[in-house]
Amino acid sequence: MRTPFIAGNWKMNLDRGLARSLVQGLAAARASLGGASSCDVGVFPPFTLLPEVAAAAAGTGLIVGAQDCHQEGKGAYTGCVAAAQVKDAGATHVILGHSERRRDFREDEALLARKLRAALAAGLQPILCVGELLEERDAGRTLAVVRAQVQGALRGFPAADLAGLTIAYEPVWAIGTGRTATPEQAVEVHRDLRACAAELFGPAFAARLRIQYGGSVTPKNAASLLSQEEIDGALVGGASLELDSFIGIVKGALA
Ligand code: PEP
Repeated sequence: MRTPFIAGNWKMNLDRGLARSLVQGLAAARASLGGASSCDVGVFPPFTLLPEVAAAAAGTGLIVGAQDCHQEGKGAYTGCVAAAQVKDAGATHVILGHSERRRDFREDEALLARKLRAALAAGLQPILCVGELLEERDAGRTLAVVRAQVQGALRGFPAADLAGLTIAYEPVWAIGTGRTATPEQAVEVHRDLRACAAELFGPAFAARLRIQYGGSVTPKNAASLLSQEEIDGALVGGASLELDSFIGIVKGALA
């Protein structure tokens, strides 16, 4: 009942020319796969590339989003970009709470709740990233950590406001490391996140909520992860920068 969502987080990579040809290639490859409507595919370029990418993606069905937005609507915040500006640049979605931002910019749940509010007010659909550190997994704290991240960011929002929300479970030890969670490890966390969403917002909300897995997803391991009923797509970093590997992952979702 949940359409899989494969999202490519380009991070601080590519330029206008490369971005345009990647999007054109993606659109053509996705159309030729057939079943395009049975899998949502999105790209999340750096801010500067959003208008170019949105123009290239127009009419293709590809989703375009940003990798972050500021918590305030506007003002004296040098170097930052507001949610409404992200929307104005052509994005419909925004990634929030990626582990690189939690690590490098000390983003915590209180800040993420504010960013979520700003994103929703601008009409953006958020992908909220959660995930444990390796030492937290080794200490048996995985479920407690990701639950606290979800509860801390989402508690208090009306369920209706979060209808467009996606959660990405991204174990930090799997991001950019070539080390992937096993399907069993991912499913255990996804199940618990869905239970947590049901406690917060009710069973109907939880049943509709898309929960992506992220962390060293490649064409090789995509099908084994994406064939799990609990895994509703992938948030992909490195492998989203190259047409063949990203499409290989989309094929894994359609298999
Ligand atoms: C990410 O940064 O969200 C990610 C999952 O990266 P990678 O696929 O490169 O591990």
